[in-house]
Amino acid sequence: MSIDCALIAQNQPCWSVVMKAISPEIQRPHLGEPFLLTPGPLTTSYQVKAQMLRDWGSWDDDFRAMTQEMRDRLLALIGDGAEAFDCVPMQGSGSFSVEAMLGTFIPTSGKALVLANGAYGQRSAQTLQYLNRDHIILDKGDYLPPRGEMVAQILAQDPAITHVVAIHCETSSGILNPIEEISQATYAAGRALLIDSMSAFGALPLDANQIRYEALVSSANKCIEGVPGFGFVIACKSALEASKGNSHSLCLDLHAQWAHMNKTGQWRYTPPTHVVAAFLEALRAHEAEGGVAARGARYRQNRDVIVEGMRSLGFETLLKDRWLSPIIVTFFCPADPKFKFEQFYTLMKKKGFIIYPGKLTKLDSFRVGCIGQMDAHIMRQVVNAAQEALNEMDVTDGAPPVAALEERKRLLA
Ligand SMILES: *Cc1c(COP(=O)(O)O)cnc(C)c1O
Repeated sequence: MSIDCALIAQNQPCWSVVMKAISPEIQRPHLGEPFLLTPGPLTTSYQVKAQMLRDWGSWDDDFRAMTQEMRDRLLALIGDGAEAFDCVPMQGSGSFSVEAMLGTFIPTSGKALVLANGAYGQRSAQTLQYLNRDHIILDKGDYLPPRGEMVAQILAQDPAITHVVAIHCETSSGILNPIEEISQATYAAGRALLIDSMSAFGALPLDANQIRYEALVSSANKCIEGVPGFGFVIACKSALEASKGNSHSLCLDLHAQWAHMNKTGQWRYTPPTHVVAAFLEALRAHEAEGGVAARGARYRQNRDVIVEGMRSLGFETLLKDRWLSPIIVTFFCPADPKFKFEQFYTLMKKKGFIIYPGKLTKLDSFRVGCIGQMDAHIMRQVVNAAQEALNEMDVTDGAPPVAALEERKRLLA
């Protein structure tokens, strides 16, 4: 029997326990697959994957209990203030849940202020466009966070705005937006906050007692380390109650999903049963690791190792240290004309690491994710692989073009 099968047979409760028991050479949850240094889908534990080897009836008591446990566990992640909230899962990728949240909580008579500094902020605005919801965008480009003062100013000038839509970690650059000051500014002006915490929830705290919001959204395949297939919204019960009839969509009506689930224990339409089973295991592992604080600490360590290591090779990060999230980091491509991203990508993949292309509008860049079943030990191997790949391309220095640094300086000024 191979090691993997032996691990499944032993039915270990949590991959981190297994990790400690086996030698570093085989600390690869997927043995042979490359690590996904991407912000979801990401590298999951064997234990999580193993849960998908069994079928569940969507209406059956066992699966209903799993859905309930999942909702309870997710609610527990927002701390003591959770009683005023409920958790509504929704089939589809994360964007389906974002669309469900925007369409369910912003009434047709409402107006949103979207705080954008990258692709996901733009996607929320585009969603509102499709939904025919009035909105304006505060667009900060690729580098800069929307600050509380700016939000306060816009809200003071435009009394028609009912909701502020903020991205917690803008995954396209890796910038960590100042969600606390955004929340303060929003509620000081008597408006409601909707948070796309897709790539942050589970690793960065969003305690309901610390930060005020009407709803947040995340999905199965980000910091909880499940596999893709559904998202979830954690929302104030009062907002859920008030949202009846708002939704533009039958399938994406969170109020209807919530009401049906609370009445019957079932999802309205076919649930991704295997994905839920895997996600429940991921939530148990999240708790065993030490919850949000421990998950965030591991990711921060991953980030620190990769940033320090890549800087030692000459690479530069897009963002100043203050705005670097522990989720994903953007690096400029080196100035050396011998550096070709596609070749670098292929070399890294051969060494067991899938990196992520950049998503910046103006400058060449690539991204390295810090989330998933990886630790500092793995991240050091990533740096070694990058060093080897540069050597093989005959690139001696990872330093970016002067123009990139000047552009960054100009925009930050
Ligand atoms: C991943 C992500 C989403 C959702 O993307 P999908 O591809 O639809 O799962 C939305 N917002 C942010 C910030 C994300 O990182």
